[in-house]
Amino acid sequence: MERAFASRNSPVSSRSRFLPSRPGRPLPFARRGKGDEDLRADVCLEIADEVGPRRRARARVGEIHVITGPMFAGKTSALARKLATARSSGNAVFAITSSLEAERFGARAETSLVTHDGDAFTGDEEGVCNTIEGCDFGEARVRAIGTENGWTFASEDAKALERADVVAVDEAQFMPGLIDFALECAEKRGQIVYIAGLDGDYRRRRFGEVLDLIPMCDSVTRLRGTCAECGRASSFSRRVVDLGDGEDVVSVGGSEKYAPACRACYLRLGRDESRGDVAPRWE
Ligand SMILES: [Zn+2]
Repeated sequence: MERAFASRNSPVSSRSRFLPSRPGRPLPFARRGKGDEDLRADVCLEIADEVGPRRRARARVGEIHVITGPMFAGKTSALARKLATARSSGNAVFAITSSLEAERFGARAETSLVTHDGDAFTGDEEGVCNTIEGCDFGEARVRAIGTENGWTFASEDAKALERADVVAVDEAQFMPGLIDFALECAEKRGQIVYIAGLDGDYRRRRFGEVLDLIPMCDSVTRLRGTCAECGRASSFSRRVVDLGDGEDVVSVGGSEKYAPACRACYLRLGRDESRGDVAPRWE
């Protein structure tokens, strides 16, 4: 009926808006009164969640996706998979991690996202991969930065950040100014932003700004790991050693300090004041 109505009352040129969409074609609503550039932007928004093929005709508005959960839940690995997928379809990727990671993993954490199991995503310098014939991978760069005094980059890195289609922040709980940075990427530069980090510390209290980003993000994924005590799914991190003299409760550490815990084991074992544990709120 719509098509009949359109052909009777509308000029031929506007009839296409009622045609059914076909795979690989932009949806009809994207055609209304827009030029090619606007149409491309709409298509990019439609595929943005999967960061589809070459997002370089970048949409004017990006997206923010939060990947959170306790320690040892695979957040960095999940982030790395997102970045590898984006990169393999030709998108330029710029990933940022905290310089605190170098304390745990050494110098390789300056240019790689590193997990407890090894390197998860390693950057290259501009154009390296694209010089290989037939290779359609996008540029990938990983930089570890300290953000205590703002988000500052060397000039070449700043340019790479500007032209990136996808921007990622790992260990985001350590990053003051996270919200401003994420919003600038997504809403000013139209980039797809992935934020990976802890939502809480081992006392199950807010950690950094990751939680504050949730009202402004497009999706949230809260991952779980495996409880070190019983093997059930872990939802929390538990401190396993006493606090050192003057040690901050949010100190950086790995499996030597923390372990994944399910709710039952967390409640059973997380009651040691010398570790800084706190009683559940209902007690
Ligand atoms: Zn357990």
